Amino acid sequence: MQKYNVKKFVFSSSATVYGDPEKVPLTEESKVGQTTNPYGTTKLYIEQILKDLYKADNSWNICILRYFNPIGAHESGLLGEEPNGIPNNLMPYIVRVANGDLKELSVFGNDYNTPDGTGVRDYIHIVDLAKGHVNAIEKLDKEKSGIYIYNLGTGKGYSVLDMVKTFEKVTGKKIPYKITERRAGDVAICYADPAKAKEELNWCATKTLEDMCRDSWNYINKKSI
Ligand code: UDP
Repeated sequence: MQKYNVKKFVFSSSATVYGDPEKVPLTEESKVGQTTNPYGTTKLYIEQILKDLYKADNSWNICILRYFNPIGAHESGLLGEEPNGIPNNLMPYIVRVANGDLKELSVFGNDYNTPDGTGVRDYIHIVDLAKGHVNAIEKLDKEKSGIYIYNLGTGKGYSVLDMVKTFEKVTGKKIPYKITERRAGDVAICYADPAKAKEELNWCATKTLEDMCRDSWNYINKKSI
């Protein structure tokens, strides 16, 4: 980047940099660190490297985007997510149960301090997320230099069971599930305060959980036909 004098950087970070939140919603000022899994630690370190880079040379123009839980697919059904092997994440797993590839969903714990006991997350449609990047690039084009951090989330939290119910309603597919042990490294509840991105990037998520379920299913269903 130095050789070609490229000084703009948009980094895909993650809400996992907040570790186990002290309180929600999470603002960009919330404490980071004490990550609960190695993935989160990589994001934290790279954020730190970018902050140090800016300190060392403040002609850089850097935007750090902290993604909450991206799911969904493009509404055309042509772009989507297909992890290899058994999916680790909730939505990719649910769609594989819906198409019959997997027998049932394991719900990792129902004894969290949340309304129904299952984990609560801020799911965001990937198209909203992609648009957030366009606005971030526009922001960097406007600014001469700086380092900017934004949460990209909807500001709404949904539980694992909310997700199962919404998916069933939208697709008409039954999702059998069983309650199992908590998964190591999972936090109870995590959702964004997206006000800063609205204010400074003029961006906010517009798609609903129904849209996310419909588009995720449409993508996988098209492939299965
Ligand atoms: N989850 C679950 N069963 C699964 C996968 C995930 O119950 O097969 C739960 C997980 O405990 C968390 C939520 O779904 O509360 C979202 O998990 P995911 O792995 O999609 O994202 P994370 O927030 O962990 O990055």
